[in-house]
Amino acid sequence: MRIVRAGKLSVEVELGALRVIMLTDGETIMPLDALLGPDGMMLRESDLVGADLKDGELRLPVRAFLVRGPGGCLLIDTGAGRAWHKGLGRLGAAMAEAGTGAQAVTQIALSHTHIDHVSGLIGEDGGLAFPNAMRVFVATEEIATFRALPRMGAAVMRLMPLEQGDGPILGVTAINAPGHSPGHMAFLVEGRLLIWGDLVHNALQFARPEIGWKYDDDLALARASRLALMEQATESGWLIAGAHLPGPGIGRIERAGAGYSFHPVTRG
Ligand SMILES: [Zn+2]
Repeated sequence: MRIVRAGKLSVEVELGALRVIMLTDGETIMPLDALLGPDGMMLRESDLVGADLKDGELRLPVRAFLVRGPGGCLLIDTGAGRAWHKGLGRLGAAMAEAGTGAQAVTQIALSHTHIDHVSGLIGEDGGLAFPNAMRVFVATEEIATFRALPRMGAAVMRLMPLEQGDGPILGVTAINAPGHSPGHMAFLVEGRLLIWGDLVHNALQFARPEIGWKYDDDLALARASRLALMEQATESGWLIAGAHLPGPGIGRIERAGAGYSFHPVTRG
């Protein structure tokens, strides 16, 4: 893998026949009590050493990923649009910086159906923000949730249920990673880069993967998925990428003590 281009809001890497572009939707903060100990309790201050903080709260970048190849142009997650915190909804600017745009997207796959992943699907006029995306892949377990979301009407006709092992485009395979949400999905690109959605919300969860996120639907299941995929990525030498990872959102994972460490990709 090599970095082809790096900008303020985007980083493009080459991976076999595919290009993967990390797109920054922006950054927000979440309260400290969003991280929970394995007992489900709020962390003590001493437990927060090593957390990625901003203004005394938890830094939360929001990212999406574009995978381009002979099989099409797949957008994985769509950012928060205007639906969530200020400082988000910059996906269009990130795409422009990367030399592409909404028209280029031919398929969309969602890691799950939370607000910071689905909201960018729909433009301010209520239409599909990516008009050439013929399919919107959503895990079977979350199709009903998606249909019930407000404002998603324009995307419903293009919905396709997604299951473990499915390939939304050539070279990309869906992998079940449930817990954060019932149908939470990761995507393995070219057998080498795991785009793992919301397995990790703060860098602290590398050193201490047992730490959960208050908004995990099932804390124990989310922890099991995080541990299993961190171990598999380490064993297999996969690169990792995630919606809330520290910049640039793509890197390597290594074992470190009782947990892991994250090493962002760098040029050269
Ligand atoms: Zn998220």
